Amino acid sequence: MVQKMELPLQEVLKRFTTLDEKITHFNSIIGLIDWDQKVMAPKKGRYVFAKAAGSLRTEVFKLSVSEEMGELLALLTKEEYQQELNQVTRAKVREYKTFYDKSKRIPAELFQEYSVLTGQANDAWEEARATNDFERFLPYLEKIVTYTRKFAEIYGYEDHPYDALLDEYEPGLTVKVLDPLFAKLRKASVDLLKRIQQDGKPTRSEIFEKTYPINKQQEFNRYILPLIGFDIDAGRLDETIHPFAQAVTIGDVRLTTRYLENNVRSALFGTIHEAGHGIYEQQINPDFEESVLQSGASFGIHESQSRFLENMIGRSKEFWSYFYPALQETFPEQLENVALTDFYRAVNTVEPSMIRVEADELTYNLHIMLRYEIEKGLIAGEIEAKDLPEIWNKKMQDYLGVMPATDSEGVLQDVHWSFGGIGYFPSYALGNLYAAQILRTIQKALPDFAALIEKGEFKQIQGWLKEHIHQYGKLYTPNELIVKVTGEELNADYLVEYLEKKYTEVYEL
Ligand code: MG
Repeated sequence: MVQKMELPLQEVLKRFTTLDEKITHFNSIIGLIDWDQKVMAPKKGRYVFAKAAGSLRTEVFKLSVSEEMGELLALLTKEEYQQELNQVTRAKVREYKTFYDKSKRIPAELFQEYSVLTGQANDAWEEARATNDFERFLPYLEKIVTYTRKFAEIYGYEDHPYDALLDEYEPGLTVKVLDPLFAKLRKASVDLLKRIQQDGKPTRSEIFEKTYPINKQQEFNRYILPLIGFDIDAGRLDETIHPFAQAVTIGDVRLTTRYLENNVRSALFGTIHEAGHGIYEQQINPDFEESVLQSGASFGIHESQSRFLENMIGRSKEFWSYFYPALQETFPEQLENVALTDFYRAVNTVEPSMIRVEADELTYNLHIMLRYEIEKGLIAGEIEAKDLPEIWNKKMQDYLGVMPATDSEGVLQDVHWSFGGIGYFPSYALGNLYAAQILRTIQKALPDFAALIEKGEFKQIQGWLKEHIHQYGKLYTPNELIVKVTGEELNADYLVEYLEKKYTEVYEL
């Protein structure tokens, strides 16, 4: 019997590293193309860009499920090899193995059909939203739900089919864990909202809607960006309609923001939010560059870093006690009669609205829970897509006390379902939950946390985030990371307490 000679471990690792590097390089280039398409490319060139990015994505997919990858993963997950691997390599293997196993289970023709479907669904959704015509989108949504259910069955799950979808965005998270967290947060948020509406002292949010010249806004945003910790030698800030952060590599992280003349808040908090994403990417261990670990732990952890900077720091009294004089100096006419306290209270205005992306820190989570409950019901077969407008409006009324006048500002507002992103929404609220838990930890670790912000000193804070979260990139799973950082699993109490405390003060309840 001829026995196939095993490859020496060093040889296997060398091939694995080469393949990892190649895939990561392609992904960096895809990121760059995506950025260019949204920020720089002239209208007439965008179409080819989109196709070029598509071709590269297909190559990345092929490499990730290639025979070579399969062979390397099979070797590296063998017990005798596993024991020899260091923590970093084991994490890389974990990342590729998860993707490989999932992708291999989906029949190629099913994947192909689904890609065509989501392409068409996106066009249909755009049209449906523009014309307020849910029926236009419905047949696509129904099919997407059917396919997604199939995928959930193929991926597998223990308790709830939605677990298989959550796992795409927040590895390891399940309905069983999430349901009680959300239940607690929902009840506390709805109660708090009612108290604010009944007894809250009104804020002066109208101050933001004066005319704020865009060139002055740009000046101020560019002024604060490096001060809060974003390294402008390793990134840039541009403008788009939908702000985002795109990491090309650790040394090249690109942010965008949106300037509105009659809403100075939009760019300000958009920039701070994206800077939170960007600083995370910039502070990843340089040894992880050009590897699959060169990215955040999960969607939820990533969002926690943007929310932490935007809300916990950027909407704090200390933050504005430091930055408000400079903002007043930039906009002397607009803010001359607005005291710091009024400004601080105004940036924390709570106002239920129809649109998720415009929601405040308190009501935002309610928008997410509504979507989560709907998605879970769709996947479990308990809700039918055709009933969504009615269910949506009912939940809006129950949680937020407002009712959309049209489906365009209701069930049709988000792009996510049209690209098949069922399971994505919870990440946004998870970001807030993680952020509040991290806040509690950092306040203990740095007793002068608030004083540092008040002095405009962000180095120590960003240094702490780097040491405890950012440097690790994708080394740990989200649950491992939050336990490592805070000493316990995700717990909704911290966000509930944070919201109670903040709004009791802001609204003088
Ligand atoms: Mg974000």
